[in-house]
Amino acid sequence: MVNADLIEASQGSKPQIQPHFRSRPAYQYSRPMRPHLLYRPFPTSSASQASATSIQQQATSRPPSISQNVASTKETPDFLPSTSTYNRFLNFYRMATGSMSEAGQKQYWADADSRYSKIDCERCESHRDYLLKYSPIVRYMSDNIAKLGGVLDQNNIRCRTCSTGQLGGFDAKYGIMLCANWLDTRNKVEDVLSHEMVHAYDHMRFDTSLGPDEDLRKVACSEIRASNLSGECRWANEFFRNKVFKISRHQEECVKRRAVISVSMRPSCDGKDQAEKVVDSVWDSCFADTRPFDEVFR
Ligand SMILES: [Zn+2]
Repeated sequence: MVNADLIEASQGSKPQIQPHFRSRPAYQYSRPMRPHLLYRPFPTSSASQASATSIQQQATSRPPSISQNVASTKETPDFLPSTSTYNRFLNFYRMATGSMSEAGQKQYWADADSRYSKIDCERCESHRDYLLKYSPIVRYMSDNIAKLGGVLDQNNIRCRTCSTGQLGGFDAKYGIMLCANWLDTRNKVEDVLSHEMVHAYDHMRFDTSLGPDEDLRKVACSEIRASNLSGECRWANEFFRNKVFKISRHQEECVKRRAVISVSMRPSCDGKDQAEKVVDSVWDSCFADTRPFDEVFR
């Protein structure tokens, strides 16, 4: 599969802040809450009738106190196995009120990711198919990649459940991966897909492999271009809406921050300081390089 080190950092994603969930750590703000999954109907087939009845009994009988549950699961006292509606509700309640420990929260999301993997991937795939047909930026990028002899379609743009907390990735051999459990809306899928498509374009045009041994300056250049040209910092969206080529201060800061995060996560990078130096060293030429978009203006 796709190497973890090729996958984009998620820290740059815009948080969806819901005031009463403020006590959750920042990295979880962008997760879909999926509360509706708590209310999934009970199984109705005869095989699962027995367990359904017992769950219903449990739900209507007096619930066990929290302290009993704490005693029964010593390792992660506040995350309960999601085997019953009551447990799922308790997990969700603690999560939503910010009273769950950090270890419990990690388990909460891992559990949600595995239970909803199929739903997440199907939703991601339908967004992907829609974008390949109708999104201006995705179509423009895939046309330009096709001109260079590359093909990106349903077969090599894959939706997966990711456990690395990252949003997506490009691999020269396997194509593009979208992390379905992090991308609930079509706009998020569009941003990540167009970002990875810039990497694919760079691979076709400038032969950047983005492998673990790749020159960090080449990586930094591709990351600057990918953040600049994808919708992440809202530049390309402006372009398609107004046909105006306006680069704001916000755009520069946004692109630089994202590029530094992505470069600092490379295995060959020593950390943020080195990442900043490398990004600065290639900044002027790479930020100004808007291919394939510049062909439109000239
Ligand atoms: Zn990238």
